[in-house]
Amino acid sequence: MQLNHRNMLLSPSQSTARLRSSCVTIKIAMAHRLIQIILDTLFPLTCLSCRQEGLLLCDQCLAKIPFQLEQHCPICEHHSTPAGRTCLACCTRSSLDGMLVATSYQSRIISHAIHCFKYRFAESLHEPLGKILVNALSHSELTLPDLILPVPLHPRRLRWRGFNQSWLLAQYLAEHLTPGFSISTTESSLIRQRYTHPQAQVKKHAARAQNIRGAFQVPKESRPEIAGKNILLVDDVATTGATIFECAKALKKSGAKSVFALVIARQSFKTDKH
Ligand SMILES: [Zn+2]
Ligand SMILES: [Zn+2]
Repeated sequence: MQLNHRNMLLSPSQSTARLRSSCVTIKIAMAHRLIQIILDTLFPLTCLSCRQEGLLLCDQCLAKIPFQLEQHCPICEHHSTPAGRTCLACCTRSSLDGMLVATSYQSRIISHAIHCFKYRFAESLHEPLGKILVNALSHSELTLPDLILPVPLHPRRLRWRGFNQSWLLAQYLAEHLTPGFSISTTESSLIRQRYTHPQAQVKKHAARAQNIRGAFQVPKESRPEIAGKNILLVDDVATTGATIFECAKALKKSGAKSVFALVIARQSFKTDKH
């Protein structure tokens, strides 16, 4: 009824254009669905760990993944702190208030799943990986955030991968952290304003910080959404943490009250630290 009423307000040519555009959208959705059915038939999904058919990470294997019980200050990575809060010695050196690490990168299932998610474009892994994040946050002493933000990708990188893995995780968290009520999330309040080399290709610790410096910005029109908010930044994996520290800096500059990060795992950085 509502659609008919809306169409009555449009000129006949506008109605036809809108109808044509809806038909195209439906056809594209049907084509995607058909391709998915063919792919699922030809290459049925199998669990990355036990090879059981059905899901990329089955519930039994998911249940075996251990939580990271001891959390550390994300800056010095030395002091053990509740929920990964930034320690007193480091809090003047960073805008990040803490980083909760859900599980260990040493777990082969996790390192393999993260690799497939990022580099083999296994988009559907956001669901089991999102469950790990929800569980970690629910079992921590952190209070619920006002806003969940993904670490943004540059549009060039987004075109290459086809999706932002952090945005998929942020949306999963926003919908599943509190049953029956979703937390606000957006991918437009924090943007990557310049293209940077992927951090994984930068081999020196200091060079990573330099590579990402000043890469993020809160657009002027988004500042009211950030000011005074407790923000949870979501990413798949942290290594030196340089990307997350820079995001936190941009958010605090725009008036964020607190910025915590949540990642699936923290990968150790083995090469030259200086
Ligand atoms: Zn399995
Ligand atoms: Zn510290």
